[in-house]
Amino acid sequence: MGLLSEGTPLTWTEVQKYCEHVRHHAVIQFINIYNKVKDRQNDCLKFGDEIEYILIKFDHERRSAKLSLRADILLPILQEEEHKNPAKARSLWRPEFAAYMIEGTPGQPYGSLISYLNIVEENMRARRRYAQKLLEENEHLVCLTTYPRLGCELFSDPPHEANWRTSFLKSLYFPDEVVFPGHPRFNQLARSVLERRGKKVAIHVPILKDVNTPTPFIEDDQGDPDAAQAIKPDHVYMDCMGFGMGNCCLQVTFQACNIMEARRLYDQLAPICPVVMALSAASPIFRGYLTERDCRWNVIGDSVDCRRDEEKGRIKKSRYGTIDCYISEKGGSFNDIEVVYDKKYYDKLRSHGVDHLMAQHVSHLLIRDPLVIFSEKIDLNDEEDSDHFENLQSTNWHNMRFKPPPPNSSIGWRVEFRPMEIQTTEFENAAFTVFIVLLSRVILSYGLDFLIPISKLDENMETAQKRDAVRQERFWFRQDVVLEGFGLNGIHREDTPKENGYQEPKIVKMECNEVFNGSERFPGLIPLIKKYLKSMEVDVDTQCTISHYLNLISKRAKGEFLTTATWIRNFVNNHPGYKKDSKISDEINYDLMRRLVEIQEQKIDEPALFGEWCSKTKSQIPRAVLRNQCCN
Ligand code: ADP
Ligand code: MG
Ligand code: MG
Ligand code: MG
Ligand code: MG
Repeated sequence: MGLLSEGTPLTWTEVQKYCEHVRHHAVIQFINIYNKVKDRQNDCLKFGDEIEYILIKFDHERRSAKLSLRADILLPILQEEEHKNPAKARSLWRPEFAAYMIEGTPGQPYGSLISYLNIVEENMRARRRYAQKLLEENEHLVCLTTYPRLGCELFSDPPHEANWRTSFLKSLYFPDEVVFPGHPRFNQLARSVLERRGKKVAIHVPILKDVNTPTPFIEDDQGDPDAAQAIKPDHVYMDCMGFGMGNCCLQVTFQACNIMEARRLYDQLAPICPVVMALSAASPIFRGYLTERDCRWNVIGDSVDCRRDEEKGRIKKSRYGTIDCYISEKGGSFNDIEVVYDKKYYDKLRSHGVDHLMAQHVSHLLIRDPLVIFSEKIDLNDEEDSDHFENLQSTNWHNMRFKPPPPNSSIGWRVEFRPMEIQTTEFENAAFTVFIVLLSRVILSYGLDFLIPISKLDENMETAQKRDAVRQERFWFRQDVVLEGFGLNGIHREDTPKENGYQEPKIVKMECNEVFNGSERFPGLIPLIKKYLKSMEVDVDTQCTISHYLNLISKRAKGEFLTTATWIRNFVNNHPGYKKDSKISDEINYDLMRRLVEIQEQKIDEPALFGEWCSKTKSQIPRAVLRNQCCN
């Protein structure tokens, strides 16, 4: 979560009085930043990852693995290092929506030297080791996108009971106590979504119909009128923000050298989101049931969908979803869906020198209401503060985020890549992070062009979430990504007919394997990265690390290595306690969590996921690389 101001949150009734105030000042704050730093040049590439973790408490006697609600106790201890010496901290820790979640990032972003790619994994490992030392016996910090029994009876430690009649979340399944209690933002976010919408959110995931799954499968509404109205046959039903925001993801933020480069990266990485999300798929189970989906994306979208029924005709998407418009020069002609924006703010941006595409993007963010306003943060100095802008920015959760520099800071224009699910091991999480960093370099160096119409990007995001999308589905993708004149000799490309000098983009459907590994007609993302690496000087050790990462991505795309989601499905299917009824019992859940912890801690091999162990541990990193770098 982006903005974490301290203070007293207004109730939703009070927030509504300030919605216009916040939007009005958000625009001014953006204009101020834009005009001050739009010409800023020569920031260097920096990047950093964010990993969200869940806390699991095992009870080996009872064979149970529950979510441990201790993040608020652990966070202040985890943050001590940062508070004492922010410049030297090796890792930074932040609260997340749920009381069992923690977000960890490297202490400092990494720089542009290629050898930084060699220490990403060890920093991730050190981060988890550091946190793990603070945990109780039988408590573990686990990299897992969705806890399988989230919302099942007594899924937390300590246990709490959900009661839709008496709780503020009104959830049939998710007790109020599971929301992170240490910061008022999270409670108020959930309250505002619920109150703004006027009824509970409704999340539906098609259940996987196994031989013993009831037909039709129909949830019990427990007498709740919202549930009675929302429940659909053959769908797992979930009813509050926690089911989405209680999931974990892997994000990567890049700093670009200037605003144009940031805008280009934002656009060019957007069409990459669905295929990478499909490869990272890790959430086949929701609320204790096997489903037809492998990713969390739509679940989160629905979990924070604060639109009122009467708004849905005009505003087609939840405030969490795929981007609605590109923002780089080339992107304009691919903006083929209607972008809803507030004309008043658009005009204001335009009259202050902001171009059409950027004005459209910003005024589109402003169609949403702020969800949380702190009473101490209403009247701000728009020259010094960007809180109102960040307030709306940080509650427009899209697959890409365009991050303007904070006022008066040394930080440059950044973009964030947000679709990935969390992998079990640091090896895998580092592989995805390094892959996307390298791809961003290749895009910029070769001037690659991945743009497809936004409507096709939307379609791909839906496709990517389907069960086993990597092996079963095909995605819209640009075949002609390579621009002429970039010296990509040896890469075969078909000539596209030119009419009146205008070259129609060639957009075809490809399997993940083709996108990543290439074919006769398409160079492939991994071969492009390899070609780029050959053209630069990379020390042998870093080369070796990178090749293991690219191998993982390549084999995931081929289907030779399983996605986490497929691996979890196989685990359940082979479990002696599984009754082929789509249900994940406490016992299956316990064995699954145990196995994931063993894999994460390298106690057992799991070649089906990533082959032989080839993890980068500190002892393997050459001293020259470690020197002057933030690896602990
Ligand atoms: P948010 O939660 O809003 O996405 P965070 O503050 O949690 O943002 O940080 C996101 C990531 O950005 C972290 O990995 C951090 O290391 C990285 N980061 C910080 N400063 C920069 C920078 N100047 N350029 C690129 N990445 C940065
Ligand atoms: Mg986060
Ligand atoms: Mg963060
Ligand atoms: Mg982030
Ligand atoms: Mg949108």
